[in-house]
Amino acid sequence: MHEFSVMSQMIGDIIEELKKWNAAKVEEVVLELGEFTMLSEEQLRFGYDVLTRDNILKGSKLTIVPIKGAIECACGYKGGMSSTEGMLHDSVPILECPKCGGVAKIIGGRECIVKNIRAVVPDV
Ligand SMILES: [Zn+2]
Repeated sequence: MHEFSVMSQMIGDIIEELKKWNAAKVEEVVLELGEFTMLSEEQLRFGYDVLTRDNILKGSKLTIVPIKGAIECACGYKGGMSSTEGMLHDSVPILECPKCGGVAKIIGGRECIVKNIRAVVPDV
């Protein structure tokens, strides 16, 4: 399961960051998830639940913010895809320009990043 290893890596990074802040407790983690990452939100949530059972993130809320994918084509088209249905079933996604039918390239929507962490940090 790809989502699980992505989440595992991410949580490792978050914990490292929290150590720097000397955080006592985490309330919320906000994750941005691009349309073209092909990661399942449900699987990410499952991974989060399992991987936060025994650490500082226990009991925190995971908020996933979906980011629309964007493509760019030689014909000048720039924007979203009409459908990503075909992509989800292919290991090598083919991006078809909705305007001319040509092959477009991805310019956005590949992110899977921690946008924000809301933690309780002790007063200094
Ligand atoms: Zn085009």
